[in-house]
Amino acid sequence: MKFEKQLDTCKAWLQKQPKVFKQGMSVFLAVVLLFGVISMVKSSTACAVELDGKVVAVVKNKKVAETVVNELINEELKKASTVKPEQAITYKTIKSKDALVSEERLKELLAQRLTYEATAAGIKVRGGLKVAVKDKATAEQLLEKLKQSYSLGPEYKVSFQEDVEVVEVKVASDRILSEETALKRLKGESDVPRYYTVKEGDTLWDIATQFKVSPDELQDANPGFTPESMQIGQKIKMVGALEPIINVVATTEKTVQEETVLPQQVKKNPNLPFGQTKVIQVGEKGLKEVTYQIVAVNGMETERKVLNSKVLKEAKPQIVERSAQTMVASRGARPGGAVLSPFGMRNGRMHTGVDLARSYGSVVGAYNSGKVIRAGWYGAYGKCVDIDHGSGVVTRYAHLSVISVSVGQTVEKGQAIGKVGSTGRSSGPHLHFEVIVKGTPRNPLNYI
Ligand SMILES: [Zn+2]
Repeated sequence: MKFEKQLDTCKAWLQKQPKVFKQGMSVFLAVVLLFGVISMVKSSTACAVELDGKVVAVVKNKKVAETVVNELINEELKKASTVKPEQAITYKTIKSKDALVSEERLKELLAQRLTYEATAAGIKVRGGLKVAVKDKATAEQLLEKLKQSYSLGPEYKVSFQEDVEVVEVKVASDRILSEETALKRLKGESDVPRYYTVKEGDTLWDIATQFKVSPDELQDANPGFTPESMQIGQKIKMVGALEPIINVVATTEKTVQEETVLPQQVKKNPNLPFGQTKVIQVGEKGLKEVTYQIVAVNGMETERKVLNSKVLKEAKPQIVERSAQTMVASRGARPGGAVLSPFGMRNGRMHTGVDLARSYGSVVGAYNSGKVIRAGWYGAYGKCVDIDHGSGVVTRYAHLSVISVSVGQTVEKGQAIGKVGSTGRSSGPHLHFEVIVKGTPRNPLNYI
């Protein structure tokens, strides 16, 4: 037979080979046999994946298990480069091949159970850990962005009101925030925007009051939104919900020229016929140069101190004689001078009061007798006083530098309630005055 012939040829060839070769050959065959046995044993084993000594699942072999574990860890490493599982992961070779699970299932089971710890950069405010981001560079960049987000110009020196430090912390990896989310958190902005649905009978003013924001802020958050365009069912974005964690303080010194206007003086003249007035002296605007030290918190002016003031031109008051035989029902006192900006639509939004010319620090008197219902910071209005005069009439005095009354106090007509300033969203010292009748702002010029 052909095969036997070949075998014979082979034997003959082998016998011709030296002894060393024959010995080597048998060792080689033994090794091949051993590996065969080992692989047979191996193929009847499986790999148990354990977390802190407890079996989570059994898979085909260690390589499969490690691939899945590495995939999960690599996913976490995107959050921070120092992520480590909190549980000890071990692999045990077991004989049984029972209850083998797929790679996908192992991934699911591990994802449910594994937690991770990372060395991250924590931002501590007044000693308390507030947010964690992936590393120190990110934390520092984030704080710089926070400062810039309230920038008022290169002439301002910017710092934080609170003690802020960046420290290395060990945290669970799901506490590590993206730069954007961390920035919002520090600014006190809600991560998710909140909306309000306009109901029948709502006025812009009602909604603003209800959410403790000013009508201006509401309109800023909703471009194109005006009292006229408001519709029932319309969703509007709410703003200014939370307290900021870090407050950004900007300070500067600024020298400006300001017009000065003196209040009109009225003299009664019994010789003038009823209803007549006569101008005795025409008023003239004055001019002064003032150097202020300005402090702004989170982009809004909170303090303005006069460092130096120089009169460039004296102002002259307008003096008017009025008939003593007046019959007109008494109106409120005008709390300011010339109208700088009238009531009504301005740059696409409602200006709910009048801006009256008054110099910084001059005393503001109450429009009429009444009860103080607000005395404090009120969003874009800055330092603000509201007085309830009864019969649904409320007057508002905004951007004050000083408030000298408190909520619940009763005031007389003309009584000092504070001083003119530029707090809140204000471009310079003036008095923003509002007359609100039954919840709706009216043109104050009809009431003074
Ligand atoms: Zn105004």
